[in-house]
Parts: sequence; C-alpha cells; structure tokens
Amino acid sequence: MKLLLTGNEAIARGAWEAGVKFATAYPGTPSTEILENVATYKEIVSEWAPNEKVALEAAAGASIGGIRSLCAMKHVGVNVATDPLFTFAYLGVNAGAVLVTADEPGMHSSQNEQDNRNYARHAKVCMFEPSDSQEAKDMLKEAYAVSETYDMPVLFRMTTRVCHSKSIVSCSDREEVMDKPYEKDIRKYCPLPAFARGMQVKLADNFKRLEAYSNTTPFNYSEDNHSDIGVIGSGVAYRYAKEVFGNTVSYLKIGFSYPLPMEKIAAFAKGKKTLYIFEENDPIMEKEIKAAGIDCIGKEKLPVMGELTPDRVRKALLDETVQIIEPNPELVLPRPPALCAGCPHRGVFYELGRRKDLMIFSDIGCYSLGLMAPYNATDAMICMGASISAGHGVQKAFDIKGDHSKKVVSILGDSTFFHSGITSLMDVTYNKSNTLTIILDNRITGMTGHQQNPGTGYDLMGEAAPMIDIEAMVKACGVKNLISIDPNNLQIVEEAIEWGLNTDGPAVIITRWPCVLKKFSGQDNEEFPMAFKKVCSVDVDKCIGCKKCLKSGCPALAFDRANKKSGILKESCVGCGVCAQICPKQAITVEVR
Ligand code: SF4
Ligand code: SF4
Repeated sequence: MKLLLTGNEAIARGAWEAGVKFATAYPGTPSTEILENVATYKEIVSEWAPNEKVALEAAAGASIGGIRSLCAMKHVGVNVATDPLFTFAYLGVNAGAVLVTADEPGMHSSQNEQDNRNYARHAKVCMFEPSDSQEAKDMLKEAYAVSETYDMPVLFRMTTRVCHSKSIVSCSDREEVMDKPYEKDIRKYCPLPAFARGMQVKLADNFKRLEAYSNTTPFNYSEDNHSDIGVIGSGVAYRYAKEVFGNTVSYLKIGFSYPLPMEKIAAFAKGKKTLYIFEENDPIMEKEIKAAGIDCIGKEKLPVMGELTPDRVRKALLDETVQIIEPNPELVLPRPPALCAGCPHRGVFYELGRRKDLMIFSDIGCYSLGLMAPYNATDAMICMGASISAGHGVQKAFDIKGDHSKKVVSILGDSTFFHSGITSLMDVTYNKSNTLTIILDNRITGMTGHQQNPGTGYDLMGEAAPMIDIEAMVKACGVKNLISIDPNNLQIVEEAIEWGLNTDGPAVIITRWPCVLKKFSGQDNEEFPMAFKKVCSVDVDKCIGCKKCLKSGCPALAFDRANKKSGILKESCVGCGVCAQICPKQAITVEVR
C-alpha cells in the first residue's frame, strides 16, 4: 500500500509498523504531529507528557519494562531531556527505544537554531537522519533493530522540511514484536559509579561495532555518476544537492550519521577533485572528515546559519542568482504576528504595557506576542519555565543593588506552568522572592495547536483525564497570595496587578478564560457559558476617531482613515469587550450574537 505522508506522519506509521506499544512527547513545532498521528493507531498507548524530560523518562521506563517505545520533541526540548538521555545511553535498552528530535534550521518558530547532531556525539548515542518521508518510516523501523542489537537508545533527527513535506511512502503491515521479559539487573539499570564505569566501557565497545554497521548499512550509500566532483550529504541537505547538481556529480548519501562511515567516506573521496559536504547548520561531518585527513569544502562556501535551500546553494557554489517574484506591496499588506481577536491574554498585556515601573519576564508560547506593539509588555524571555526563575534572578539583582524603580512580573501559560513553571515557582517561594507571577490559563496548549495538558481534563487519546488544579498546585508550591480573575475585565486586571505588586512576598495571579480557538469541552461550556457568544460594534456618531481602541491590538478592529472612525469586523470579533472598556466615549457596544 502506498500513502502520501508528511515526515511526521511517516514516523507515526513507522512506529506502528515497528511494533511500538508506547509513545510519549511534549508538543513543539515541528514535532507536534508525530504524536498526534501515533495516537490514531490503537495498538500504541500514546501520551502527552508535562515536559520532555518526563517524556523521555517514561519512554526509557517502557523500554526497560520490555516494550518498544517512542519519544518525540522539538530540538530545544532535547535540552530539557538531556539529564535522562545521557544516563539512558549508559544503561542501554531492553526493548528498543527511539528519541526523535525535530530540529529547526531557519528558526521559523523557535528561539534558537541548535543542531542536535551535536547531542548524538555528546550523549554517546547513535543517530539516523532521513531525507524524506519514505526514509523516515524505513529508518525508524531500522532504528528499533539497531537499538536492540547495539543496546542503546537511538537519536533520530528530523528537520522542519522533512517533518512537514509530503511524499509517497510504501507501507507494510505491523510487525508484532515479542515483548521482552523484564529481569532485575542492577548492574545494567542502576548507574552507581561502580556499575557506571562498566557501562561506559560497554558503550565504547558498542560504538566500535556501530562503526562497522555504519560502513555497511544500506542507509549510507553512494551514487556513482562518473564525476570527479563528489557530494557527501545528509538529511534534506542531500535533497538540495540533488536538486542543484542532478546527475552531474557523484553522491554519498549519509542516512546513519553517527558514527560516520569513515571507510565509505574515504573510499568515496578517493580520486575526487572536489568534495562538497552538504549539511545544514554546524560543520559536524565536515570537521570529522577533515580531521580524518580528507580534503573537502563545506562551510567556507555554504552558509552555516539558516536553512540550506537550493537557491542558497546555487548562489554559494555556482554564483547563480535565482529570480524571485516579489509580492506586490499594494496587494499584500504586512501582517505582523498578533494575538488573535478575542485572545484572553489581551487584557493582561494591555494593562501591563501601560505601566513603566515593571520588568516583565515572559515565557515561550502565545504570550511571547506580548512583546509586540501596541503592548510592548515584555523585557526578556529565555526558554520554557524561565519566566519565573529568571524573573526571580532579576528581582534578586534589583534587591541586592537596592534598585526599587522596577518590580519584576513573570508571565507564562498553563501548559508552560505544568512543563517547568512549577519547579521555578518553588524556587521563588523557597528563596523568599517577592516577584509577581501571572499564569495565563487559556485551558489548552495554545501556540503548538491545541494539545491537551494536565489542566484540560483530557488526554492525548481523547479520553477524560483527571484535571490538575493550577490553584492547588500554586498553593502547594508555598504561595500564600493567590487570586484567580477574568482577564477580559480590565478594571479587575488592573486591580489584580496593583494588588500583586503591593503584596509582601511572592504573589500569583491566575487568569482563567479559554483560548478563542478552542473546541469547548463540556466543562468549558459549564464554566464559561457566555464566552464568544457576543459581538461588538462601533456607534460612528459617538466615535471621535481617537484610536484608543486600537491600542487593544485586536485584529478585528479597523480604522477608516477617510472618515476618521473605528470599525469592527463582525466575522472576527467575539465580543470579549476589551476594546469597549478602552473607548473613552462609550462608542463601542456589546450585544449577544
Ligand atoms: S470586542 Fe473588541 S477586542 Fe474583543 S474581539 Fe471584538 S473587536 Fe476585538
Ligand atoms: S476608542 Fe472609541 S472613540 Fe476612540 S476611535 Fe475607538 S471607538 Fe472611536
């Protein structure tokens, strides 16, 4: 059977065909759809974990317990999961275990462009790198065989273009893999220093065997086009090389990329006048090949940052400029990223942006949009969960310096709070900070596309799940000053912020209102019966054209320059009423749809 699949769908199919029985992930672009698709296979128990470390630990446990497991995350998620990863490599597996890292050259929706091939070398785990959906499925199945044969978890690197591009995939039936018996073996599963030293030696031996595998696996193959120009390429970079050079050069395709097949590489390089290394981001293969004494051209010509598109390759190697059709600026209006019309975070950012006495540490998620105009309500952000702990550090710096001109506010969402905000909040209370934390609970994991989380009442399989109470969690972290508010009421938001800033000791505000794009659950309907059932309009006779309502930043608002009047797009407006509260002339009215 042949199917048209994205790389992420192909990973899910590969997991199913490989007999995987347990899969877990924390969502993050470009990896999110892997688990969403795995969850459609009823033979695989699929879970969203609160964060990537937890996900990998659960997958490691399933492997030790005797069933094949899959874990997926975006590239920065692997940073969170490194603690178990480095030691899981020492322990090895019982049943096969694969960690998929979805890297993002070009940073389309990420805070950095880290190249997770470095983690394979650092954590001492082998690595596959597919170039398309067929390879993604086939290599994933092979990765389980490698994991079990060489007794190690496998790092499996996807990149955005491979994750999201579609190509035809030949599919097979599911292989029913025998579950492995679990046997107590403390020398294998307990890395006490005395045992870990032995594990390290075993790992080094396994890598020697893996070098032989790398030199013989059909996933590392050459295409001889009788040219004295050669390209060694991995991942989607290999496809770009094919697109630019076609059959005019010879290729060595690297699919199993760590350890590198140095014997195959040396044989391929022999007699080549020019040897190019095609890899996105860091010069990892290039450095190892040069260190082996093989002359090659890599990052001195090809870009080290961003995606390696065919156009960039043509420009870098052939000095050919590709003609680009520029959009007509009169037809295509600039559309900066903005909070959606009716976003429940709007009121908070509107109020925070009005204050000049705050240092606002934001987190990763929809709330990162609070830094955009018209709010300008963010000073800094680092990574998931950092808003609270980094905010704590800033406040400590202010306190130590005796600088009382600004107070720190930390902002994060519900999923981020569960991900790593809890431990940061414990740090704040334990170390007697007096920051204000605002948890924007929009009842879903918003920016990655509405995945369930421990606070939503549902699991990845769509079944009802216990709903973790954020208020109770905050109290359990030692916070005594806590209020929950409706973020659409600007007066309440303003008063809550004032209360939080004047509270002695750490304070937490929880804003509770569902994401405007959310499919409401029964519980949401009960708690928010009138949400998004209203619409606003501007009374043009009352409107004086002051544009204050535009400061709400809502994309449903438009301004008629000719008549100097505001207007509201009824199709977009959900009647949250934020703009109506800003209008000084009560020119905006709210009515039930
Ligand atoms: S009420 Fe105002 S702020 Fe709210 S969605 Fe409608 S136009 Fe936007
Ligand atoms: S704030 Fe009110 S008066 Fe001012 S432009 Fe908007 S609708 Fe008109």
